[in-house]
Amino acid sequence: MEVIIFDTPEEVAERCAQIFSETIQAHPNCTLGLATGSTPIAMYKKLIEKHKNNEFSFKDVTTFNLDEYVGLSGDHHQSYRYFMNENLFKDTDINLDNTHVPPGDAENPMEGAAAYEQMIVDNGGIDLQILGIGANGHIGFNEPTSSLGSRTRVKTLTQKTVEDNSRFFEDGEFQPTLSITMGIKTILDSRRVVLLATGEGKADAVAAAVEGPLAAICPASALQLHDKATFIIDRAAASKLKMTDYYKYVLTKQDSLVSQFGDPRV
Ligand code: PGA
Repeated sequence: MEVIIFDTPEEVAERCAQIFSETIQAHPNCTLGLATGSTPIAMYKKLIEKHKNNEFSFKDVTTFNLDEYVGLSGDHHQSYRYFMNENLFKDTDINLDNTHVPPGDAENPMEGAAAYEQMIVDNGGIDLQILGIGANGHIGFNEPTSSLGSRTRVKTLTQKTVEDNSRFFEDGEFQPTLSITMGIKTILDSRRVVLLATGEGKADAVAAAVEGPLAAICPASALQLHDKATFIIDRAAASKLKMTDYYKYVLTKQDSLVSQFGDPRV
């Protein structure tokens, strides 16, 4: 696992946007796995800036989002489809037909989830997946104790996640308690994974994911099984890690290899 620690959330967003930009430039018809939540917003803004500066085009890019609430249609202001349209897609030249979000309004959400998993497979898989991390260690809506072998499915949210996300809903508004989420195995099948975390509230989850045991109680720890997983985090989110000096040292070695031989992950 690669761990990159920056002083500020702004630098976290910039580094992640660079990785996305390099990937799209190298593979204009790549498939991106996208995430919602507050953390990726700054990175999407930077990606839009880079796109507007003509670094790359989204026109041949395909996207699959990690998750969606069950019971919200795509035009609901709290749906993740709406979030993606507002925070990224509307400011790009992406073909909306090539953007996919799990079908939260499917008549049968379980069938909808299975069809979504199959669509990812039929598309040839995901080249680069971005992730946030919940304070409880979840990735996507794979809550603690989710099977490490899980595929896209309907998942019940924990009370903690419902509370964390209640800030986005008006008082008295329907707030979903179920989601459709890519599974942990679905995420592990992506060819490269980048997890972003900022702020002290994520420090325990990041430490458990990077340095704790591989355990379903911390779903993000499953990334220990991924051979191209990068955590890009700020100093606050890194504050409970024990081996930060080593992570920095590894990067200096890796930078010199990449400058000599190129980056095999792009
Ligand atoms: P956040 O959510 O970026 O809003 O903190 C991350 C997550 O819950 O996966």
